[in-house]
Amino acid sequence: MTATLSAESPVSSVRSERIPVAVLGATGSVGQRFVQLLENHPWFRLHELVASERSAEKTYAEAADWRLDTLLPEETAGMTVKKLGAELESVILFSGLDSSVAGEAEEHYANRGAVIVSNSRNHRMDPDVPLLIPEINADHCAAIERQRKRRGGKGYIVTNPNCSTIGLAMAIAPIQQQYGIDCLHVTTMQAISGAGYAGVASYAILDNVIPYIGGGEETKIETEPRKILGRWDGEKFIDASFTISAQVNRVPTIDGHLMTIALSLCNRAELRKSTPIETIIDGIELSIESYIGEPQRLGLPSAPRNPLHYIDAEDRPQPRLDRDRENGMSVSIGRLRPDPILDLKMVALVHNTIRGAAGAAILNAELLDAKGLL
Ligand code: NAP
Repeated sequence: MTATLSAESPVSSVRSERIPVAVLGATGSVGQRFVQLLENHPWFRLHELVASERSAEKTYAEAADWRLDTLLPEETAGMTVKKLGAELESVILFSGLDSSVAGEAEEHYANRGAVIVSNSRNHRMDPDVPLLIPEINADHCAAIERQRKRRGGKGYIVTNPNCSTIGLAMAIAPIQQQYGIDCLHVTTMQAISGAGYAGVASYAILDNVIPYIGGGEETKIETEPRKILGRWDGEKFIDASFTISAQVNRVPTIDGHLMTIALSLCNRAELRKSTPIETIIDGIELSIESYIGEPQRLGLPSAPRNPLHYIDAEDRPQPRLDRDRENGMSVSIGRLRPDPILDLKMVALVHNTIRGAAGAAILNAELLDAKGLL
């Protein structure tokens, strides 16, 4: 299945002048997804490709070992890759850079007036950088004004969350908004594409599960949802107050991070007295199915019609069967049921390189454009 975003989305009109954009880290797993998803984008035109010295001055076809299931777009194949640090002309710089270089490079370009829309972890928890999931916290864009003031120009950074965090935060958002969450435990089963092409040796992952993912994966999942589901008070972000415990595993699927979640609700004793758990579950299923946010209201080109899909089958969601729903931009949820220790448990699935990375960043940039922030 191809992952072009426009097919099922409520597409807005194609513009006569599309905005020139660059991809930093264009040769990597996330960078290739950017290239794929930006082909024929109605608002953005891929203008520059940037990677390391290893790739600079080569054509993109020579530098990138193209591994996606659609053809490398012809006009992109012949573009010359620029070296990180080069002067760039684009208005938006999408970053899929390795985190060893992303922090400094993104600062460099933001301080020179560019809008950075990043996947990398480096600036996610900065006090004036929005950690955006537009369906949940589009209002966090208010922090951009403060960031621009600090930089003394029009440049700024916004980030999307860690790939598992996006699935988790979207799955729990309707529950947090309806009842409030007290605490939560999540166990992830993460696909190998999350580690980049050279990330996990086939000999290590075939016939195996690795109960560890480096780069502070568990800490990211335990902290980022609290910022996302928290609020901007005009000066700073105030985290949501629930606690999260995360355990992560690398499993031998190609794409799609699956996770099992158990949680307790706020005021559970009073709630249980007043409302049977089955009624709570029915209400949550309905709010999952009807959940929408700014991207749907604004009709952004990459927005899924339904960001959350509740699948009413006892053995779903599954990575191979459900990761490509709405071109990989929706999160699938299933098996919502009572939990004998906490209150509820369920399963969620997110396409890690689309909704969890490049697709999420493109949706963020569409939101910034729609809000007049470019
Ligand atoms: P990757 O496949 O290893 O690609 C890394 C990119 O960074 C390549 O384009 C590489 O260029 C470039 N790069 C590496 N070292 C560089 C240097 N010294 N100077 C300039 N460019 C350099 O990694 P990835 O999986 O795409 O991940 C990219 C970023 O997105 C990471 O920060 C990761 O944590 C984040 N992320 C990944 C996922 C996912 O599912 N994969 C999801 C969410 C977020 P060369 O080819 O020239 O070396």
